[in-house]
Amino acid sequence: MDADPTGAPDDLLQRLRDSEYRYANLFNAVPACFWEIDFRQGGAMLDAFGLTDRAALAHWLGDGANVRALLRASRVVDCNQRAADVFGRGDKAELLDTIAPFWPEASYPVYTQSLGAFLAGEPSFSAETVMTNLTGERRDVLFTACFPAELARDATMLIGIVDLTQTRRVTNALRLANIRAETLAEAQAFSFWQLDTSATNRMIADLRAQGVTDLGAYMQAHPEFVEAAIDATIVTDINQKSVELYGLKDKTEAIGKSIRSYWLPGRFEAIMGSLEAGFNGKPQYQKVTQTCTADGRVLDCRFWMAAPMEMRASGTVMVAIQDLTEENAARREIERLREGLAHAGRVLMLGEFTASIAHEINQPLTATRAAASAAQRWLAQDPPNLEQAAAALANIAQSAHRAGQIIDRARAMAMRHQPKRTLVDVRDLVAETIAFVDRELQVARARAVVSIAPVIPDIVIDRTQIQQVLVNLLINALQAMDQAQSPTRTIEVTVRPEGVDKVGFCVRDNGPGLDPATIDRLFDHFFTTKHEGMGIGLTICQSIIEAHGGRIVARNVVGGGAEFSFALGTSPPAGDV
Ligand code: ADP
Repeated sequence: MDADPTGAPDDLLQRLRDSEYRYANLFNAVPACFWEIDFRQGGAMLDAFGLTDRAALAHWLGDGANVRALLRASRVVDCNQRAADVFGRGDKAELLDTIAPFWPEASYPVYTQSLGAFLAGEPSFSAETVMTNLTGERRDVLFTACFPAELARDATMLIGIVDLTQTRRVTNALRLANIRAETLAEAQAFSFWQLDTSATNRMIADLRAQGVTDLGAYMQAHPEFVEAAIDATIVTDINQKSVELYGLKDKTEAIGKSIRSYWLPGRFEAIMGSLEAGFNGKPQYQKVTQTCTADGRVLDCRFWMAAPMEMRASGTVMVAIQDLTEENAARREIERLREGLAHAGRVLMLGEFTASIAHEINQPLTATRAAASAAQRWLAQDPPNLEQAAAALANIAQSAHRAGQIIDRARAMAMRHQPKRTLVDVRDLVAETIAFVDRELQVARARAVVSIAPVIPDIVIDRTQIQQVLVNLLINALQAMDQAQSPTRTIEVTVRPEGVDKVGFCVRDNGPGLDPATIDRLFDHFFTTKHEGMGIGLTICQSIIEAHGGRIVARNVVGGGAEFSFALGTSPPAGDV
């Protein structure tokens, strides 16, 4: 075997050269910056000050001016192209100078720690920190210093720096998106989707390379591109709301698959809009549109796409879907309640109502009075004109009948058409009813305390009518407390199961209570103790509860206040169809 002057066998040398060549390639190819630092001058400074241990060094370097001096005394003797690109303007020569410009003051502690590790004879040191490049731009970096023994003797250090700025941005964006996603997911207000759009990104990059500048126009002309983009967009995560909204078994049914099945054929405006927004560098896009559930229902929804550029570049897009079907239904429900409320208001105020009854009833009453005096006159004649008297009496009967009809009509109006019975959730019913009188409660400085048994069956009722009863009882309680100037005004609404098939309601106030002298007449027509009262509220309440197969019971509470209670069935009352 031949040997060279150093005594190394040829093939070994060759292998070394090869590996060096390979390493040299690697040195330039990996996305990390490599620097070789000459620390001789710096080392001499430390020696001059006798700073040979960590504690003394740390103390000395506590002064920023000393760190700066040391940084100025450390020089870059070699670096790779990547270092020149990240820290300079691409020219290696520019970097071969002191390392002072790369270390902002805020990062001095990291530099100090690395020197400490060097002096302590540790082989390396690594930390994440912030460095600046020659143009003063901040870079988030992973800084690693290596102190191999043979180089350390020459006071030479090898530094490896990985630029984390981009990664950090992406991570932050993702983290942010995650926080948003979690918050939203928690609120369960939105269906949330995380999509992998890396394949679509590539398709779009291809189009750009082909010179496409108006993606909107391109998609109009090439619907097959949109179809392909939809197929290539993959779901990577969804929240529970999405599972529910889209009628999925669980998340796994959607994850890993394309978004295709959630879109109605030919209804891709939202997707096209999102693609175009991304193409034009817009981080957000929203549209009211329609999507389609796993079980084939069409969902009216608002669609939001959010993808900050870094996130999009990393192939992630977030989508939030708000179900407008629910919103529309809620709006309709509010409308319905408002109608109900308007109606309850009519029943409660009765001003107009009373006036019209009085007006209408006045006419048959006048007729009755006239007929009665006529009858008296016919009978007073000598001989009495029985024929005419009988006719006048017939008139009276007819007028009385008409008056009765008016009352019936008025009551029917208040009771509102045919009762419409449905299975109603007690909690919803009470919550809505309290919401109706929220303003009145505030004005009267009263509060409603609701107590509903934890397990409570649904009841079969005409929702609006029962709400009228509850609103009426609540308003009566408020008025009673207000009239008596009660200092603390509390209305307790208690709902408990009663027996096997009933739910008991109880509205109790801490007002003046019911007058024992009139307690038996409370439910009589036109019984009132109020100035402006009509005395119809409780009559109607009783009629409604009776129509539901129950009775309202009023009593005074020990310790003050009135209590009205009634029970409603969990199935339709007997005789009801
Ligand atoms: P109105 O409210 O027009 O008087 P109602 O039939 O609703 O007609 O009530 C009849 C009467 O019952 C009231 O005037 C009042 O005297 C009495 N009343 C009703 N609720 C209460 C209550 N919570 N506390 C005391 N009195 C009440």
